[in-house]
Amino acid sequence: MFDVIVVGARVAGSPTAMLLARQGHRVLVVDRARFPSDVISTHLLHVPAVAILRRWGLLERVLASGTPPYEYFRMDFGEFAIHAPAPAVDGVQHPRCVRRTVLDKILVDAAAEASAEVREGFTVDGLVVEDGAVVGIHGRDRTGAQVVERARIVVGADGLRSTVAREVGAEPYGATPSLTATYYAYYRGVAAGGGEIYSRGDRAVVVFPTNDELACVFVSCPTKDFAEFRTDVEGQYAAAIDRVPELAARVRAGERVERMRATADLPNFFRTSHGPGWALVGDAGYHKDPCLAAGIMDAFMCAETLAVAIHSGLSGERDMDESLAGYVAHRDAWFTPYLDLTTRLAAMEPPRPEQVALLAAIAADPAESTRYIGALQGSTPIGEYLSPGNIGRIMARAGQ
Ligand SMILES: Cc1cc2nc3c(=O)[nH]c(=O)nc-3n(C[C@H](O)[C@H](O)[C@H](O)COP(=O)(O)OP(=O)(O)OC[C@H]3O[C@@H](n4cnc5c(N)ncnc54)[C@H](O)[C@@H]3O)c2cc1C
Repeated sequence: MFDVIVVGARVAGSPTAMLLARQGHRVLVVDRARFPSDVISTHLLHVPAVAILRRWGLLERVLASGTPPYEYFRMDFGEFAIHAPAPAVDGVQHPRCVRRTVLDKILVDAAAEASAEVREGFTVDGLVVEDGAVVGIHGRDRTGAQVVERARIVVGADGLRSTVAREVGAEPYGATPSLTATYYAYYRGVAAGGGEIYSRGDRAVVVFPTNDELACVFVSCPTKDFAEFRTDVEGQYAAAIDRVPELAARVRAGERVERMRATADLPNFFRTSHGPGWALVGDAGYHKDPCLAAGIMDAFMCAETLAVAIHSGLSGERDMDESLAGYVAHRDAWFTPYLDLTTRLAAMEPPRPEQVALLAAIAADPAESTRYIGALQGSTPIGEYLSPGNIGRIMARAGQ
């Protein structure tokens, strides 16, 4: 009998398991994948996520993997660009973009080092439910043998198509269907000193330098264009990059080293995330379009809050149900404004004149540009940053 079983061992599951095991709880974490392995995801870590890795004692390993520091973010709208460094958080200055093959393996190992039992190649088929409460999992281990394990609480950290969410009937809320499709590939020899995001009408092109001196080059389009995009992926991908001639020249100077990856399954929602004997964390409970590149950071933040809530419940400090309700309330209060912004940005509609004026005013002021990047990464709550009073201040400083 475990205290906690975590289903899914990536950026939400392994940290949850690690933090609970460090508190002395008996934790099992299972994943049908084996590590190191990749997922469909780029992997920018905003500064707060890097600061969390440092707090967990894992930053040195991430840096040892050779992931480059980002000196700047460039959000280029054609007529003007916001180009500035991200603000520091807890003494951490630089965003990083760590390949998931590297990051997820570091997290799985950290969970094991904290004495969580890690079972790779283990597929959960369903939950054990008694008297209306989840009390365990059943599934197949790496040999194909059927296994049942029991715990006081089961955490679904099993991503967008969560088995745990399906089995408990967790319903989505605040939902908006998928708005974009994305294609990306890795290149050697594409020079960039930071993250670059080019917004060009109904296409966005992103360059994220990463491990092994590679750069991830990412193109997204509205869902309505996806069918057309698929008829000529290479042509459409190149045409989007060609909308930024300077970047196109850099990409052509490089060499693509991995196959093109794609997804158009990017819905936006919260899910009911706790109930008797269970909780959800990461994409399983809160999924959104990757336009803010925040899913990993958000998973880290939720793993920390959930681990505190579960520890309070297991140790008897608080009633478990109340404690889990507190975790979900905290999550929804913090992330709702980001989910709203995400769905507005992912719609890829032409910006209104007042939005263009605001972005241009921010772009003209280097210190304000850094503050804006800080708001996107959560250093300042985005609702506060985009409040009428703060927008008035920015426009007044710009003399408008
Ligand atoms: C195209 C794209 C680009 C992105 N770019 C960024 C970015 O730049 N920065 C960023 O922060 N975020 C980004 N994201 C978001 C980020 O990838 C996710 O938010 C993050 O992966 C969520 O982590 P997770 O641990 O919740 O789920 P996942 O990473 O999906 O992991 C879930 C795990 O659960 C396991 N699992 C599932 N079902 C079972 C089962 N039944 N039994 C056993 N195991 C199971 C899976 O094998 C998997 O390993 C991007 C996403 C996409 C799609």
